[in-house]
Amino acid sequence: MTRSPVWHPFTQHALEPPMRQVVETEGAYLIDEDGNRILDAISSWWVITHGHRHRAIMEAIARAAARFDQVIFAEYTHEPAEVLARGLVEIAPKGLAHVFYSDSGSTAVEVALKMALGFFHNTGRPRNRIVVMEHGYHGDTIGTMSTGERGVFNAAYEPLLFAVDRLPFPATGREQETLDAFEAFCRKGEVAALLVEPLVLGAGGMKMTTAGLLSGLKQIAERHGTLMIADEVMTGWGRTGSLFACEQAGVAPDILCTSKGLTGGALPLAATLATAEIYEAHFSTDRRKTFFHSSSYTANPIACAAGVANLEIWKSEPVLARIRLLEGMQRERLARLADNPHFSNLRQTGTIAALDLVVPSGGYLSEAGPKLRAFFRDRGLLIRPLGNVIYLMPPYCVTAADLDRAFDAIAEGAVLFARGR
Ligand SMILES: *Cc1c(COP(=O)(O)O)cnc(C)c1O
Repeated sequence: MTRSPVWHPFTQHALEPPMRQVVETEGAYLIDEDGNRILDAISSWWVITHGHRHRAIMEAIARAAARFDQVIFAEYTHEPAEVLARGLVEIAPKGLAHVFYSDSGSTAVEVALKMALGFFHNTGRPRNRIVVMEHGYHGDTIGTMSTGERGVFNAAYEPLLFAVDRLPFPATGREQETLDAFEAFCRKGEVAALLVEPLVLGAGGMKMTTAGLLSGLKQIAERHGTLMIADEVMTGWGRTGSLFACEQAGVAPDILCTSKGLTGGALPLAATLATAEIYEAHFSTDRRKTFFHSSSYTANPIACAAGVANLEIWKSEPVLARIRLLEGMQRERLARLADNPHFSNLRQTGTIAALDLVVPSGGYLSEAGPKLRAFFRDRGLLIRPLGNVIYLMPPYCVTAADLDRAFDAIAEGAVLFARGR
């Protein structure tokens, strides 16, 4: 067999075995070329919410594909984008009145940063500092890498990254220190925006924070005229137990980024929602105040139709009830591992359960990660630890038996790989 020309993401090809081909997806499962069924316990990198190939979404895609391909989104508009935007404004936190489309989580965040700086630039009081949270992750483009945690992922690109101010990640019960740090940054002035992942910092290791922290940060931002950008790319669409995580803190951000679950995970699409104030700062007879951003595939009609179908599912199906059920199933199984000495820091927010494997040296390059990944793969489970952090973020259609299998494998794997054994 000749070597594949495909270069895979976040993959060290020198260390990975040849990849198996997925030939079909169904519900919580991937099906490979030999007919093996693999439980997708991480929702194919957090995008699949209801389950793979939800019928209503796939049918909406087929219907849209009979009428549309890509349509230029300047000078013209189309129904799927209009209906989706109206639907998003209706369900989003209060005050978010405008929807800007792009095609990935990274671009949604890039758009948010440009909107924030554009807002201050166009209103004649330039500000250019961005405050972020330690361990944050906002994407892999140069701009979003600049705002994320620095480390092995971006060491090579460091010379191109811009400087940001970082808040210390709060230890339990020490939220006030993080709030004080934010207040201090704001007092120095020039802070255009705070960019945060509400409630759960995903790629940084499923690190969980409180609703109180989020509302505290918002209050400080308001006092200083600093914008809050909620990066809900992962946390949106029910992951944390509510449609958007911000709801749990009663926080209405100035800008909200959504992508992964926006189409139920079926097609790439992203939206950056902004307040009327931010939109109006760009609304002018002066062309220089235009929001200068576009991607070729902005508001792809077929992807937007998938997004509309996702909104319909949230209205017509008991999605939140399924999420409650999944929360309970995760909590019960996590509790079974509470006394297991191989694990620490057992935690859960909504549908996301996470725990740390006790290893001699942690961090993303911890050897336990790849060994565990292979161990799970051999058992027909797609689980990808972030270093020594094991987490489950399954689609909402996952069953109790599926979760039992995943948790049993986690317990079994821990015995083999904890403490460097
Ligand atoms: C995945 C993710 C992104 C980046 O999304 P892509 O679609 O991979 O570009 C941004 N922010 C958060 C919080 C994410 O989890």
